[in-house]
This record gives sequence, C-alpha cells and structure tokens, in this order.
Amino acid sequence: MIQNGYLSRHCPICGSKPPAKPEISSEVPAETKDFESLVPYWNGLFKDKVFFSYYRCETCGLLYTPTFFTGPQLAQLYAQMPPNMDVVPLDSLERTQRGYFDMLKSAAPLQGGFIEVGPDVGLFTRNCVKDGRFDQYWLFEPNRDVESALSSTMGAAKFHIIHDMFGFSQVPDGAASVAVMVHVMDHLLDPVATLRELRGKLAPGGNVMLVTHDESSLLRRAIGWKWPAFCLQHPEIYNLKTMRKLFEIAGYDVVKQAKTVNYFPIAFLLKQLLWALGLKVNSVPSFGQVAVGLKLGNMLTIATPKRAASND
Ligand SMILES: [Zn+2]
Repeated sequence: MIQNGYLSRHCPICGSKPPAKPEISSEVPAETKDFESLVPYWNGLFKDKVFFSYYRCETCGLLYTPTFFTGPQLAQLYAQMPPNMDVVPLDSLERTQRGYFDMLKSAAPLQGGFIEVGPDVGLFTRNCVKDGRFDQYWLFEPNRDVESALSSTMGAAKFHIIHDMFGFSQVPDGAASVAVMVHVMDHLLDPVATLRELRGKLAPGGNVMLVTHDESSLLRRAIGWKWPAFCLQHPEIYNLKTMRKLFEIAGYDVVKQAKTVNYFPIAFLLKQLLWALGLKVNSVPSFGQVAVGLKLGNMLTIATPKRAASND
C-alpha cells in the first residue's frame, strides 16, 4: 500500500501489523520528509542521520520499518548513487571476506554450482575460485562498472555475470550447491520471496550463506540510534533469532550461525567513530595501514533447504 508517497507494509517475515510505537527513530524521522529531500541523506552527504523509524514486530521480533521507499523510488536511489569515497583499504576487505569464506568452507562442500548476489569485484568469490572446486558460477551484479574487474577475478572458471540483481530464472533449477549474499539481505523489501526463489535453485543438501548486520550486537546497544546500520538503505535489520525465523518461514534449516570479524585500519575506525559521534572530520592522523579485527555487529548464517520442503 502507498501512503504519503511511501510504501506502507506489515512485517516482511510474518505479516503481522506494526505495533503502535517505534523502537528506534532518528531525531527527524524520514517518514516526515518528502522523497526529494531524502536523496542527499541516502548518499550520506549530511552529518545528521535521517532514517525511517524501526518498529519491532510483536509476533516474530523482527526490527523493520513499516514505512519505506517504494520499489521505483529504490531503483532511482540506487541508480544515482555516487561511488563510495570512504573506502576501507583493499587488504582489510580481503581479510574480512576470507574470514567469511573460511566459515563457509567449514560448513559446506565447495563443489557444484555457485550463486552470488552482489559480488562487486569478487572479493569473496576469488576465494572460491582459488580454494573451491565449483564447476560453474552465476554472479548477479547490477553494477556494470565492476564487470571487467569481476571477470578477471574469475580467470579460467566457467561463469555468467547477470546484471539483474535477482534474475534467478537464468539458473537451472537445482543447479547450485552454494549461494552467497554478503550484506544484501538487509536491503530487500521481500526477503522471504527471495529466499524461497533461491531454494528452487539449490541442489539437495545445498547451502545459503548470508552475512548481515546484527541489531542485537554490543556495538548497536552501545551507540543506540547512531549505529551506522540504522539508515535509509535497510528496511529491516536482523538478529540471530529473527534470522532463524526468516529462514524457517522460507523453508530452510539453519546449520550454522556466528558473529563475524571485520578488519579495519585504525585510522579508518577512528574517523568512523568521530562521524558516529557527530564530528564530520575529513582526515585523522594516520597510523599507517595497521589493521585490527573486530566483531562489529555483523553475523553470518548458513542454512540448507528443509528436507520435506513445504508447498508455498
Ligand atoms: Zn513479524
């Protein structure tokens, strides 16, 4: 349903009505502003934070925004986004992704077909090419600017780059043994539908691995509404429990869940911390490229389709 130009919705996991009061809001909630005025906030141009208020579902416990952008508004916002200028150095990103890969490796056979949604230049995928035995890759990456970098990551592997984020119809049913989404799930308006569709593409005993934010993390509790994952790009944010509920409703059994480690250079962390405190500085003293590994409010979940999958 569209109200005041925005999508108005029930809980995306269980369909219950939103409760009366929000749990987390920005000082000026996004739902009180018009679409045009939200564009610069989406792009992170202002130091003050504006996001749609998050409510906690009284039935399943999911933290989500009953009011959010419509599909066409989202398409417009993602299409106009400037490139991220505040990038974490490559070797820190690679170490973080390697940690995710090691968790996958410990839980799933690395063979058969591989699906990844949003691989970007292939920081996760490169580990699969190097240390896995997958025979075919389907990579769903809408950003055409990264195509040549992603292609060179894949080397001699057999791969398909598909520019439609969720064109799963291009994958034969039952063809993939592993599907991966790193920081994709908290962006989706209908996560249950996506996981159900993906289930049809998985071979028996196949696995889905998701990396998402964890709204029950210590960091989120410590900094409250200023936690960076509360933002215009996340219509819902999970915790360990609600992630399990999501998989359950979509017809999966969770086989592994863990908090993950992110690697950051100290200078980058300091800058982020100052930003979170409302001090928008553009440079901080450099501590070289010294990186630290921190459990910063992210989690990883691996799930497999239920044996007797329900008909839905
Ligand atoms: Zn719910």
